[in-house]
Amino acid sequence: MGTTLHVTALAADRGAGVAAIEAAFAAVARLDSLLSTWRDDSEIARLNAAPAGAPVPLSAELFTLLAEALRWCRATGGAFDPAVGPLVDAWDLRGRGRMPSAAELARARAAAGCDAVTLDAATRTGRRRSRLSWLDTGGFGKGAALRSALAALVGRGAEAGLLDFGGQVLVFGHPPAGDGWRIPVAHPAHRTAAALKLRLPGGLSAATSAQSERFVTLADTTLGHILDPRSGRPVAPWGSVTVVAADPAEADALSTALFVLGPEAGPRWAEHHAVAALFLVDRDGRLEVRSAGGADRFVVQDVKDTITIGG
Ligand code: AMP
Ligand code: MG
Repeated sequence: MGTTLHVTALAADRGAGVAAIEAAFAAVARLDSLLSTWRDDSEIARLNAAPAGAPVPLSAELFTLLAEALRWCRATGGAFDPAVGPLVDAWDLRGRGRMPSAAELARARAAAGCDAVTLDAATRTGRRRSRLSWLDTGGFGKGAALRSALAALVGRGAEAGLLDFGGQVLVFGHPPAGDGWRIPVAHPAHRTAAALKLRLPGGLSAATSAQSERFVTLADTTLGHILDPRSGRPVAPWGSVTVVAADPAEADALSTALFVLGPEAGPRWAEHHAVAALFLVDRDGRLEVRSAGGADRFVVQDVKDTITIGG
């Protein structure tokens, strides 16, 4: 999936811990073989390359994951759109970046959206609506992989641990010391610096979405990797969203969705749906923190004393 996984596990002894960690990596490798759009031989890559309109048989596991992603698409009014692929192409976000013409943008928007790839449960198939349509699993694949990795670790007897998958963290069990797992949240503009620290009890995952994670530079503008499916354009870099949830796939999908919804509508959506989310809003270099769904209960340390909790 184009990123790095770090696993720390506590188990009865070293052998059990190593076996559990190996099982976790095997689980992630399996999810990668289903969901990665960075290789041609994954199951999703075959669906994405199939002729438009042709039903493609899917494994039960991939079918379930895609159905889940499409549910998040509808639940967020299309802000989370796993079929954002044509827009990624229009802006060449996996290449050097380019400015699409109005006509290209319109074509790409027509090929994206919650109905761009349809699933049929009776035949367990998926089909692309147009030859431009494809599913980009970048917004939820890491969370889905973390869910499988956790099941593998616990299944092999790991008692506690921390998984860090390209910035999305999952913790389970009791930490070796202290009363919770300490998790830094990156500064939205300087991703190697921590803006805040969270204290999470075991059994939770924290996913962060921001434009500083990945972007391409075009002339004098920067195109972030998160697109607003409503306009078809990259979301302007306003800050970051961290979602804390028991289900890592949900945290992943919703952090992307709430980043698209932005610092005003995002907190309202999160509050209304009881989703714990922290919005770090960049106000001319000063960070303002907005908490929704009670997420401020996880914040233990403000690195910058200018940060205020509100919202
Ligand atoms: P994340 O870092 O989890 O927020 O996911 C961002 C990635 O998801 C991007 O790199 C794209 O691969 C994909 N993506 C971009 N925009 C969207 C969107 N509106 N909905 C779902 N996935 C998206
Ligand atoms: Mg995400």
